[in-house]
Amino acid sequence: MHTDRKALWAVRQSALPAVVRPCPDCPGTRHRPSGKIRVNASGKLLDVWLLLSCVNCDRTSKVPVHERVHVSTLEPSRLVSYENNDPAAVRELTISASLAARNNYRLDWDGTWELDVRTPLYALDSVAPLRIRVVFDLPAPVRVERLLMLGLGLSRPRVRRMLAHGLVLLPPGLGTKAHRGFEFTLHRPATPPSVSAAEVPALARWPHSEPLGA
Ligand SMILES: [Zn+2]
Repeated sequence: MHTDRKALWAVRQSALPAVVRPCPDCPGTRHRPSGKIRVNASGKLLDVWLLLSCVNCDRTSKVPVHERVHVSTLEPSRLVSYENNDPAAVRELTISASLAARNNYRLDWDGTWELDVRTPLYALDSVAPLRIRVVFDLPAPVRVERLLMLGLGLSRPRVRRMLAHGLVLLPPGLGTKAHRGFEFTLHRPATPPSVSAAEVPALARWPHSEPLGA
C-alpha cells in the first residue's frame, strides 16, 4: 500500500488563555473569561465589555471591547453574538492579541494546548524523508523546540543533537515561538556513520519501534 511521506501535528486548544492583569481586590493577577459579554445601549451608542473573573477571588471585571460606538458600526450578527454570550465570540475576544494590547494586559497561554500527533505508519525499509506539517487551532505561542520534544518524544539535548546532525530541517529556529502553521522535514539516517540509534531514539522508533539499520 502506498503511503505518502507526510505527517500532521496539530496544536489543539484545551483551554482559553488566562488574562494577566492586577485584580483590584486581591493580590491575584490571573483572570478567566466568565463566559459573558455585556452590551449597554444608550440611544444609538453602544458599550461592549468582555467580563472576566479573577481566578483567586472571583471578582468580576470588565474589558472594554467597544466604547460609545454607533450601533450602525457593528454588524448585526456580531451584536447578536455579543448579546447572546456566544462562546465563539467570547473565545475570539479572549484570545485577541489586539484587545490585550489595547487594554494593556498579557495573555498566559500555559496549559491552553496539547499536541495531537498523527504520523502514519510506513514500510520498515523506507528511508525517504518525512514531511511534517504543523497546524495551530489557536494562536498559542509555542516554542519550536518544545513542539519537537513532544512530537518526537525526545529530550531537549536529543532534539538539539538531531538538528546538529542535519536530521531535522527546520525553517523556524529551534528557539523561536511559533503561533501559526509551518512545515519541516525529518530525515531518517539510512546508514548513520556518526549517529547511533542511542542518540536518536525517536528515529530508532520511527515509524514504529523498529531498530535503526534493521
Ligand atoms: Zn482577585
